Amino acid sequence: MREVFDGTLRFPYHQTMSEIVDAVLWDVIVVGGGHAGCEAAAASARLGARTLLVTHRRDTIGVMSCNPAIGGLGKGHLVREIDALDGIMARAIDRSGIQFRVLNLSKGPAVRGPRAQADRKLYRQAVQEILRDYETLSIEEAGVDDLIVGADGRCGGVVLQDGRRVRAGAVVLTTGTFLRGMIHMGEERTPAGRVGDGPAAALGARMEAMGFPLGRLKTGTPPRLDGRTIDWAGLDVQHGDDPPVPFSTLTDRITVPQIPCHITATSEAGHQIIRDNLHRSAMYGGHIEGRGPRYCPSIEDKIVRFADKTSHQIFLEPEGLDDPTIYPNGISTSLPRDVQESLLKTIPGLEHAEILQAGYAIEYDYADPRDLTADLQSRRLHGLYLAGQINGTTGYEEAAAQGLVAGTHAAGIELSIDRAQGYIGVMIDDLTTRGAPEPYRMFTSRAEYRLYLRADNADQRLTGLGIAAGLVGSARQAAFEARIDALNVSRETLDHLGGSPPQLAKLGFSVNQDGQRRSAADLLSYPGVDWAALVRAWPEDLSGVSPDLAEQLSIEALYSGYLARQDLDVKAYRRDEAVALPADLDPDAIGSLSSEVRDLLKRARPTTLGQAARLPGMTPAATLALLRHVKRGANRSAA
Ligand code: FAD
Repeated sequence: MREVFDGTLRFPYHQTMSEIVDAVLWDVIVVGGGHAGCEAAAASARLGARTLLVTHRRDTIGVMSCNPAIGGLGKGHLVREIDALDGIMARAIDRSGIQFRVLNLSKGPAVRGPRAQADRKLYRQAVQEILRDYETLSIEEAGVDDLIVGADGRCGGVVLQDGRRVRAGAVVLTTGTFLRGMIHMGEERTPAGRVGDGPAAALGARMEAMGFPLGRLKTGTPPRLDGRTIDWAGLDVQHGDDPPVPFSTLTDRITVPQIPCHITATSEAGHQIIRDNLHRSAMYGGHIEGRGPRYCPSIEDKIVRFADKTSHQIFLEPEGLDDPTIYPNGISTSLPRDVQESLLKTIPGLEHAEILQAGYAIEYDYADPRDLTADLQSRRLHGLYLAGQINGTTGYEEAAAQGLVAGTHAAGIELSIDRAQGYIGVMIDDLTTRGAPEPYRMFTSRAEYRLYLRADNADQRLTGLGIAAGLVGSARQAAFEARIDALNVSRETLDHLGGSPPQLAKLGFSVNQDGQRRSAADLLSYPGVDWAALVRAWPEDLSGVSPDLAEQLSIEALYSGYLARQDLDVKAYRRDEAVALPADLDPDAIGSLSSEVRDLLKRARPTTLGQAARLPGMTPAATLALLRHVKRGANRSAA
């Protein structure tokens, strides 16, 4: 066996081969160059850790396996949070997005979701370019087959496919859909991580042998179509927002050309074809045991589950500016290719569409995330961190956000985000306390404190934490501080401006004649008063405020009453989170607990009272008994 010495190593590696044998070469090894792996490697490298990204193929770093889009409801919040912590996803989509749209614009600002369709090639290029800038990051093109367990019982590195052993202080596994991946198309089965890439079979088998709690999940993708064979005339056109709003606070404006997408729909004739061939679908023919994403169903699923619907919308999304490939969003399928072709013939505009790559389903291993602590470290093998699809999530954004957290902790830096600070905190708490019985994707409805966890204030929630952790570079820190200063100045201005009811009436505001002074901030919280009305009243003071700050201040005003109430809920939540459960907690010693709850606590090993309370199956009475027990223990220790 010999240690790896990658010719691409740069600063600070100046040792010769003999000097590095038997030395711990890397602080962190990240396995997998997908969305989780790239953020993990970037976070670790931002912290100055000597980081090695080991991935099957250098040219597939940053590849989008399925839909060419970033963001959406809940997911867009995650991207903004990644950006707030100086991650790469937001900057990459800003350099490659070909249609930006804020979803849910007609709803409240808290649940709006920024989304952008990407030019696939440009996105991958952007990720690779950004990674190239990290001085302490190196890349090794190889497959990882095994994990090294050191004499201290910690994960101490990885074994590559060719037998080489590479050692590190910590390892982050981000294998996506590759762990014993199996592609299904009708009756055909092909071992693969995604189309065109082999699976990670040996690593899956090793993890099983090592006792990791593995399960099977599945997901699917639609056929890719040749846009030159689509009849576009008569299809509805959907344009993006004008101007497009960037994801990253570091992007001034989007310079990539913007293009529209088109909309069509399935018809009853197509539904009949699917019903007639359900037995040939991999998902319905009994070939797949894993559970699929409930919120991203295949077209077969939709026909069965929503049998009364006569049509399902399909968004025809271009995969790139100079690429004729079209991604028909809405018809992911595991039906055989001939059925996919027959189905297309029934869809307006797609009657003559040619398939460039048939749709398929993929089944893969995931590791039960309840086996992880909140830093995404394995309880069973310390020094090993897991992030992304391997933890049972689905989606690039979920993967990237976990990667950032895992990479930070693997580099030895604490980054704790709770449920009241970010969607990242919500997701990690959900995964580690409830697991992923089905593929987990983010939604705004998963967050209790969503009026506060908005996409527009991600930087204010998290950049300070990122700066404290050392994750944020100087450019972002300077931009953030300037923005906070400007916001504070504008908030003071709004508090200072205002007047009595008669004074306000002269300025065009009708308020109750109760003699009470109202500030401009108060006025902004009233229905019918918008920023433009304030600028008309006080042009000298307010016309210089940037549209971006004006929007932020308007949202704060809109939610001011509700946020005060939400603060009380957050305080109660944090009180429970502050009650630490002892590491040696013995649930059997709490007489009033049922045997089910005792088993639950033994299995889940929660670290705080709040976490225990959120376990499915935990009752309020059991939580109270646990609290009493912990307090009694604390009193005894104090005595
Ligand atoms: P991936 O992006 O899968 O990246 C894994 C990386 O690890 C790859 O670079 C791979 O080469 C590398 N790797 C794996 N094992 C090893 C090893 N042993 N050694 C070295 N390198 C290794 N998401 C949705 O939100 N909605 C969908 O509808 C959807 N459909 C999908 C359909 C298909 C067919 C596929 C394949 C994925 C789909 N996804 C969907 C999931 C989406 O692609 C993933 O959520 C996302 O890519 C996960 O990111 P990741 O970083 O965890 O893993």
